Amino acid sequence: MEKVQDPRRFEHTLGVEYTAAALAMCHGCGLREAQAAGLLHDCAKCLSDEKRLSICRKNGIPVETLEQQNPFLLHAKVGAYLARSKYGVENPDILNAIQNHTTGRPGMSLLEKIIFVADYIEPGRKNAPNLGEIRKLAFQDIDRALLRILDDTLSYLSGSAGDIDPMTEKTRNYYHERLNGEGAVQS
Ligand code: FE
Ligand code: FE
Repeated sequence: MEKVQDPRRFEHTLGVEYTAAALAMCHGCGLREAQAAGLLHDCAKCLSDEKRLSICRKNGIPVETLEQQNPFLLHAKVGAYLARSKYGVENPDILNAIQNHTTGRPGMSLLEKIIFVADYIEPGRKNAPNLGEIRKLAFQDIDRALLRILDDTLSYLSGSAGDIDPMTEKTRNYYHERLNGEGAVQS
């Protein structure tokens, strides 16, 4: 990764790797899997938009309109593709964790949650609101940490000019329903 990322991105990558390992220890997930997914999650982040689009075109990876307009959104999808084809990862859980690390998805596995959360809370992150609280929550109740991150991300995006990936909303609504819906225990 050091060879294909700029120094700032590489530092973030290492932060996600060891934060994912710590979360895996805490929540009983495979350490190797968490480390591999953490290391590779942004493997397509430092490619040009043209390169990401051409990888999709050449390999029959579907590109949505929103992704066409904002090809940086593709780094997760293209990252999962490269993890398999270039870095030899076969474990579908690791590939899913890379593919879904920016928007999440309904019904995420533990590993997917760990990578999603680690990406947000790793020590190099400084600007997100409620970071201290979310970092603590991540080791106590990863589902609630996930939901907080999704809520904060959506309120941040709605306050900026950035486009919202509909999957982020879908994931938020799914976990909101699961954690706070009828019959669920309120915390
Ligand atoms: Fe990313
Ligand atoms: Fe990242």
